Formats: sequence, C-alpha cells, structure tokens
Amino acid sequence: MGNRGMEELIPLVNKLQDAFSSIGQSCHLDLPQIAVVGGQSAGKSSVLENFVGRDFLPRGSGIVTRRPLILQLIFSKTEYAEFLHCKSKKFTDFDEVRQEIEAETDRVTGTNKGISPIPINLRDIEYQIKDMILQFISRESSLILAVTPANMDLANSDALKMAKEVDPQGLRTIGVITKLDLMDEGTDARDVLENKLLPLRRGYIGVVNRSQKDIDGKKDIRAALAAERKFFLSHPAYRHMADRMGTPHLQKVLNQQLTNHIRETLPSLRSKLQSQLLSLEKEVEEYKNFRPDDPTRKTKALLQMVQQFGVDFEKRIEGSGDQVDTLELSGGARINRIFHERFPFELVKMEFDEKDLRREISYAIKNIHGVRTGLFTPDLAFEAIVKKQVVKLKEPCLKCVDLVIQELINTVRQCTSKLGSYPRLREETERIVTTHIREREGKTKDQILLLIDIELSYINTNHEDFIGFVIRRGWLTINNISIMKGGSKEYWFVLTAESLSWYKDEEEKEKKYMLPLDNLKIRDVEKGFMSNKHVFAIFNTEQRNVYKDLRQIELACDSQEDVDSWKASFLRAGVYPEKDQVNTRSQTENEDGAQENTFSMDPQLERQVETIRNLVDSYVGIINKSIRDLMPKTIMHLMINNAGAGLCSRG
Ligand code: GDP
Ligand code: MG
Repeated sequence: MGNRGMEELIPLVNKLQDAFSSIGQSCHLDLPQIAVVGGQSAGKSSVLENFVGRDFLPRGSGIVTRRPLILQLIFSKTEYAEFLHCKSKKFTDFDEVRQEIEAETDRVTGTNKGISPIPINLRDIEYQIKDMILQFISRESSLILAVTPANMDLANSDALKMAKEVDPQGLRTIGVITKLDLMDEGTDARDVLENKLLPLRRGYIGVVNRSQKDIDGKKDIRAALAAERKFFLSHPAYRHMADRMGTPHLQKVLNQQLTNHIRETLPSLRSKLQSQLLSLEKEVEEYKNFRPDDPTRKTKALLQMVQQFGVDFEKRIEGSGDQVDTLELSGGARINRIFHERFPFELVKMEFDEKDLRREISYAIKNIHGVRTGLFTPDLAFEAIVKKQVVKLKEPCLKCVDLVIQELINTVRQCTSKLGSYPRLREETERIVTTHIREREGKTKDQILLLIDIELSYINTNHEDFIGFVIRRGWLTINNISIMKGGSKEYWFVLTAESLSWYKDEEEKEKKYMLPLDNLKIRDVEKGFMSNKHVFAIFNTEQRNVYKDLRQIELACDSQEDVDSWKASFLRAGVYPEKDQVNTRSQTENEDGAQENTFSMDPQLERQVETIRNLVDSYVGIINKSIRDLMPKTIMHLMINNAGAGLCSRG
C-alpha cells in the first residue's frame, strides 16, 4: 500500500480508543476516526459490510442503528469479531455478531426503540440523532464519510448537508455515492464522481452494494464485489475511471487517508496525552505513601474534602475562570438572574389597578376628613395610599429570598455530590450547611421586613428624588404685563415643588424667569369686564413685589376648571390660597355638593384626587425605581453577609 511503517498507526489508535473507553469520560481525547453519515437507507450498513467482507449489521426498514457503533478493523490471519463489552468472547459466526449488536443496542436504548408512535417524539428522536451525529463529526479529528445514494438529488443529501455544517470547506469529508445501479436510464453520476459538481478536497468514490433482492437471495459479498467491478468496467460513463471506483478502492483510500490523518494529528495528540499523563502522575504521587489505616491520613483526607467543598461552593457562587461550566448556569449566575430578572419582574407584576387606586384615594380623603370638609389634608391621604403600595413590596422581596435560598441549597447538593463515596460525611455536611443557610434565611427575612418597615415609617419628600420634582407643566397667560411691555402674553409654565418657571414655549430652552415659591400665596381675581379669561394671582405675603415691578402676577386660563386645577397643583407645591378667601369658597362648594348624589365626589375634591393620583403615580414610580435599584443590592449584601460568606469562610 506504499505506506509501510505507518501500518502500525491504525492499531495504535485502536489500542488508545479501547483504553479510553474503558476509563470512561474522565480522560478525554479526540482520536482520529472515520465517521459514517448518511440518510436512512442511503447504504451505510451495506458499505461497511462490503468493507468488512461480512454480513454482520442489523437490517430492517426504519431506524435500525440507534447507537454509535465503533468499528475497528484489525489485520489477522483468522477471522473473528469481538466486543469491548464482552472482551473474552471471540465471535466467529457473524450472525451472532449481528444479534449481539441488536441486544446491546436494546440494553441501552430499550426494546421499544426509544420512541413512541406519536409523531412529535419521532421528530425529537430525529433531533437527538442529529445531535449525536454532530457530536462525532464536528471533531476536527474525524474524517467524515458522507454516504449519498445516486438515485437522489445530491443537493438534498442529508450526509452532505450535515458534513457541510461542520466542515464547510469540505476538507475532511469523503463522498461515497451508492446505488449507482439504480439510476434512471440515461442518467449518470459522472460529474459528481469526477468531483465537478460539488467538489470536495478528498473527492467522491462510487460503489455498488447488494440490492435488497441480492440480500434476500443470500448473494455473498465476494460475488457482490465481482459484480460491482463488472458494473464499473462495462458502464460507458464510468469505464474510464473504473480503477478509482468500487469498494476495494474505497478501502484503499480510507486506509491511506486515515493513516495520513492520524499522522497529521499525531503531534497534538501527543502533547495532549503528555499533559494528561503529567497530571495523572501528580495524582499518583499523592497516593504513593498512602496507608489507608493511618488515622492522621484519615483526618487529613476528611479535612481536605471538607475544604474542597468550601472551595467548590465559593467557585459556584462567586464564579471562577477555570473549569467554566458550558452546559448550564452555575448557582451564582442563577442567583444573579433572580436579582436582575426575576425580582424586577415580580415588582412590575404587583403594579396597582388604577381604578382601585382612584377609589381608595377618594375614600382615604373622605375618611381623613371625617365629618369636616377640608381642603388641606391631601398629604395624609397620600401617605396612606403610598404606604399601602410600599407594603406590597414585602411579598416579592420574601419570594426573592426563597428563590435565592433554593439556589444555594441546590448548589450545596451539587458540591456534596463529590462526597458520594462517603454517604455519612455527605449527609452530615449537607445537614450542617443547610441548617446554617436556613438560620440565615430567617435573619435575612427579618432584616428585609425591617427595611420595609423603615421605609414605611417616614416618607422623606426632601429626598433628592423629590427635589425639582415637576408637579405640573402647561400654558398660562400672564395677564398684567403693562401695555408698554406688550400687554398680556402666553408662556409655558413649569411648576416644581420649589419654584415656578416660565419659558417661551414647551421646548423649555428659552427661560424667561424662575420664581422661588417661598412666601407665595394665591388669590382669586375678578373676571375682567371685557375678558373671557379666568384669572388667579400669585403674590408675596411679605408685601414685596413678586416679579419686577409687579405686586402680583395675574395668570389667566380659558376656564374656571383650569384655574381650579392649577390652584390644586400650587396647593401641592405648598402655595396656598389666601385665608379668608378659602372659607367663602369652600362654603359655596359645600352648598353645591349637598345636592349631588352622595356617591360622587364634589368637583373640588375630584380635582384634588386627580392631582394626588398623579402624584401617587410619580411617587410609586420613584419608590419602585429606587427599590428596584436599591433592594437587590441590599438583599445581595444581606445574603452574602448572612449566608454565602459565612459558608465560604467556614469551609
Ligand atoms: P443504511 O440505512 O444507510 O444502513 O442502508 P442499508 O445499507 O441498510 O441499505 C438500504 C437498502 O438499500 C438495502 O435494501 C440495500 O440492499 C440497498 N442498497 C444499498 N446500497 C445499494 C446499492 O448500491 N445498490 C442497490 N441496488 N441497492 C443498494
Ligand atoms: Mg443501516
């Protein structure tokens, strides 16, 4: 075969493969191998059987081969087969080999073929199979034997599609075209086989396997190979390349390419093996002077395991650079998600029903007034409502703690699984650590409830969130600018808790003036004789000019409604109506109100409620926001101090 000296390579890799599969997963190395892929009935089994020269694979329609089958060909004088799972037995009857493959498949996947007749599950199986195949062929160390039947469009070939996914440049894919004898009269696969249609670096090889009829008629493989040879020699489209076609050529090519491929991957294989060897030797060193009955040794081992548990736990919670899990989220990452996704979601979920809130506010205001009908108690009503909202935070906060605790306990379980060989140690470790976490859970919850109680006890409207807090924006006309200065003029007003500013327009770029609200009050102004505007005025209680040469600024709106609602806004900002005026006004309001349906609010109250409702919205918004920002941090802090760090440092 022209590659003597390399002939030892394949057996060597075979030996490695056996060694690795007997150790299990703990040592892992991608060994060079050839993976055979192809759609159902493409002819994979037939190719392999021709290859081996024996009928030994399970046959049937549907999904027959449901497990990866690793096949090693070993040169030997006598012909036999053996399985890794029953090494002592040499099979010389190849029907028995087939039975053993079937039995071993069922042992692992179950006799019902691991599928149920429900179509969706069939699709699941399809995905599972695809995943399994991809697992094999995506390794750079695998050559891919893509088996495609010639009586099917090449572009639809499952094998080539999959190969393309993992080997887009076609560097390690070898194309095998089966069923050349089944092509429609007058068509042939010459272009494909000459590597012109969908070129692969390693090209295509055509084969003719036994048909179903041949198999039923027990045509043996030797006869089949002869028939194949005859087919290529006599076919006008393939005659010129008959030497590069057929099973014997495929055997030769695969042998060569696998050998070359092994040679190419050898250097990296060696370095990987060496590094594994080194780390194993290190481990062996530790056990060299190991005397199992030495009590100091026992204590040391115990301490080491417990210490390792602490380290593992910390890694899972705090994260670490080495051995990053790519399969699932670690405990720490899950807890992070609880804080930053789940918890905010729970907070948003508790958002109030606006209708309920309106009703609650109106009741609150009425109840606070009692038998009196006052104007100046919205703060109390406001507090009562906002407190009700704040109390609602308790539930999501406690739920957040529960979720985090659950995650911590899961993490403990994962970490103790390493102690599996010492069930009592494992149980005791879990018990101690879990009890500790539970203790801290109680403390954390107490502290969170305390925190919320603290928030409830006083609502600090002097907080920076509230300063500069805009109460209202809108157009108003300054009515009493002297004619000399252009007479009445419309401006865009912005009322905050601190000041009243006015601008040229709603862009709020060109500011005309800012009036601090200290010592300001409001009074009504008689509606002008000629004007259809409704007017109120702002003046300074200390007998000073309020603005330039003006004793009072007269502000005009289009309707009395507007005037009243602006007055309510000023009220909120702490700018009150002049005293004696209020009394007369509230009396008239009373008379109106008495005639109304008892269930509806009087308009003055309605406007106040409206204002308060807006305020509640903003307040709740601000509180929610600050709690959203603050709470996770606070809880995280509490958790770490109470649970995580405590555990880590104790080891
Ligand atoms: P697998 O599902 O890919 O393993 O396909 P099989 O090797 O079991 O083949 C499926 C069917 O196609 C069987 O009936 C084979 O006899 C038949 N078959 C496979 N290759 C050829 C071929 O080259 N020519 C003909 N005529 N039949 C083939
Ligand atoms: Mg098969």
